[in-house]
This record gives sequence, structure tokens and C-alpha cells, in this order.
Amino acid sequence: MDKKTISTLLLGMFSMLCFAQSPSMTFSAFETQHVRVQTPGLFDGINKFVIHLDSIPSSDYCFPLPGGKVISPYGGKRHHAGTDIKTRANDTVRAVFSGVVRMAKPYSGYGNVVVIRHPNGLESVYSHNSKNLVKSGDKVRAGQALGLAGRTGRATTEHVHFEFRVNGQAFNSNLIINYDDNTLHHGDLVCSKSGNGVTIKRK
Ligand SMILES: [Zn+2]
Repeated sequence: MDKKTISTLLLGMFSMLCFAQSPSMTFSAFETQHVRVQTPGLFDGINKFVIHLDSIPSSDYCFPLPGGKVISPYGGKRHHAGTDIKTRANDTVRAVFSGVVRMAKPYSGYGNVVVIRHPNGLESVYSHNSKNLVKSGDKVRAGQALGLAGRTGRATTEHVHFEFRVNGQAFNSNLIINYDDNTLHHGDLVCSKSGNGVTIKRK
């Protein structure tokens, strides 16, 4: 290989690892009506991307339910797709990062749910709200009110069922949020395509 080929290859690898994908921020009807959808544009020309948690400014992060406490973690025997955060009825549910509301409607067991697509490639899900305060297409800032906490859908107590997703696939939000003190973790999160799914790992 000549020098030019090598530098082109290196540049390709570099961009694969470092440059953010460009998730679409306009939504098809299907995308406004379902929680689990693939993100158009997310893996165009790349098979992995990295989210640098340290490069997220503190002004672009808000714990989704300030003052809330985790009552049920991700996973376990019932394959829980989210993290349940306990609150009082009608506490304010807030956007974890800035983004655009993809979906805001009642959706089977989720009850009133809000899904936000973030420019960094993640989506966040806030479910069981007594009321949604945003609609599909709304731009939201981190910390902006999305809804009031409730127990709509399949819920036995007032709480927020919170999820992070990549390309429609839910993963453990404790890879991003440290639930000991509700702050962001440090370091990098590598999101790789694998078969029909996505593997999300801390680097
Ligand atoms: Zn839940």
C-alpha cells in the first residue's frame, strides 16, 4: 500500500470512530407512533459511533426526574427495558438532553409516553405520565418539562419508566447515568451495529 492509500484508510477509520452520525430530525408517521423504531441516517456509511460523555456540557444534562429515586433497575428476570424512578404524582418529568420530540401520545402499556431523539444518536423515553406537555416535532432543551409523572398504562404506582435507546434498541441507562448521585458517567460509549441489533459498551 502506498502512503496515500494508508492515509485514506486511517482517515476512514478515524471518521468512523469520531464523527457523529446524523440522525434524521424529521419524522415519518410511523416514527411518531411507535416507541421502538430504527433511526434513519444513524449508521449511514459507518458501523459504529462513539458518544463522548465528557464532552456533554453540564448545561445539556438533566436527571429526568429531579428528586426521584430508582425503584426498579433495568433488566432482571422480567427483562425490564427501562429504569423506574419513583416520584410523587404530577412531579415534572424533564428532558435528559436537548433534542426533538419524536413521539408524544398514549401507547399501550407505556401509557402517556414521550420519546426524544437527541443529536448524539440516543433516544430517551419517559413513560406513564399523567399528562404530556409536548408534541411531536417540538424542540426541547435539557431540563425542559416534558410531562407530569403518573401511572397511566401498565403501572401500579406513580413513577417514570425511563429508557435510553439506540436505533430503537433499549439498553441499560446506567451506562450513562450514575444512579448513585444522578450525574453523568465519564468516558466514552461505543455504539456498534451487530446483526440486526446494536451493541452499546463503555470503552
Ligand atoms: Zn419500568
